[in-house]
Amino acid sequence: MHELSLSMNTVDTVVEQAKKQGFHRVTRVTLAIGTLSCIEPHALATGFEFATRGTIAEGAKLAIEPVQAQVWCMDCQRYIDMDERGVCCPHCHGYQLKVETGDELMIKNIEVE
Ligand SMILES: [Zn+2]
Repeated sequence: MHELSLSMNTVDTVVEQAKKQGFHRVTRVTLAIGTLSCIEPHALATGFEFATRGTIAEGAKLAIEPVQAQVWCMDCQRYIDMDERGVCCPHCHGYQLKVETGDELMIKNIEVE
């Protein structure tokens, strides 16, 4: 399961960061997910709950914020907003597109005690 391994990596990073800064508990984690990332938020939340078990982030609230994907059109030489893969440029209808942002998962914010 894609989301489970992602959750485990994310939780590892969160816990490591919090510990490094001397905190004992993570209360809330905000993740930003690109609209082209193919990550299913519900599956991610389930994976997160599983991955935090037994860690200082156990019971932490998970907030997920979508990030609008930005794609560079090589024909138009400009950025366009895109919500799904495999569609053409709305301006020139070309397929010379390069995803710049929106296919990743980022830890946006961590609240700790
Ligand atoms: Zn174009």
